[in-house]
Amino acid sequence: MISERGEHALAETGGGVDLRAAYAYDLGGVHFCYGSTRGPDVRWVLRDVTLQVRPGEILGIVGPNGSGKTSLLKLLAKLAAPQTGNITLFGCSLAGLSQEDTAQTVAFVPQESAQLFPFTVAETVLMGRFPHRQRSRWSLGFGWEDQEDCQAAAQSMATMDIAHLAARPVTDLSGGERQRTMIARALAQMPRVLLLDEPTAFLDLQHQLDICAVLRRLRDERRLTVVIVSHDLNLASQYCDRVAMLKDGRVTAVGSPSEVMSVEILRDVYGCHVLIDPHPESGLPRITLPGPALRSHH
Ligand code: ADP
Repeated sequence: MISERGEHALAETGGGVDLRAAYAYDLGGVHFCYGSTRGPDVRWVLRDVTLQVRPGEILGIVGPNGSGKTSLLKLLAKLAAPQTGNITLFGCSLAGLSQEDTAQTVAFVPQESAQLFPFTVAETVLMGRFPHRQRSRWSLGFGWEDQEDCQAAAQSMATMDIAHLAARPVTDLSGGERQRTMIARALAQMPRVLLLDEPTAFLDLQHQLDICAVLRRLRDERRLTVVIVSHDLNLASQYCDRVAMLKDGRVTAVGSPSEVMSVEILRDVYGCHVLIDPHPESGLPRITLPGPALRSHH
């Protein structure tokens, strides 16, 4: 699927970071809030987050609503900056990297959001090439793209199974088709790190599985590092190499799915009792909500 040409282009991109660094991300003592840090009622959204993301792993971030998952992803994407603490991207301080250097290394797929402009699918995916454009070819409209950009866009559309939608305006797509378009745009960026916020929320079962399979293939073939925020504990358990659990802005557990998907940890983080047994195929933890009779006892 990924052509030699694509691999070649990938090897050249580094965005100024050292791709041999021990960690894709290294966060130490990160505190973050949206408003002012002055005054008595500062609302910290992330508190003392220390976390490493290893190159070539799929890390899942799970936790209840409002626990800070999206905010953490925004810090990793450099869309927001922590008030205290450090974040390095492949050994380089994220604060010291330009937006463009960051975008050559990191692609971010936000949660499904309203699409204002009726760009076609192909145009939208091509926009993912923007950080790689040559400055000399800069113009205010399209016209900066070259053959390599078009190839990368076509390849990403094929990977995400949206080539047949290339000429359709994104405003006319279903939620799932639009989501796949946004992931294709991120892949066209040829990133080293892919950050995804609830990527499967609007997808039917088959496309959920397809996306998980694509992410694992990209991890194996390109050593892509993937950080994925998900509500779906079973998806995190089956498809992530490691899982970080957030509660009230703190990382309360991080480890392999077998280490962190325990009845005790999930009760502590979510405040409810769940049943856990080995998945019949993978043997990894399978999480089930209790039936109504059991629930009333907990
Ligand atoms: P999660 O993704 O786990 O649901 P978020 O990171 O979206 O959590 O939100 C964590 C907290 O930060 C919530 O209390 C939320 O209300 C608050 N928050 C999120 N975005 C903003 C924002 N743009 N401005 C102010 N507060 C925000």
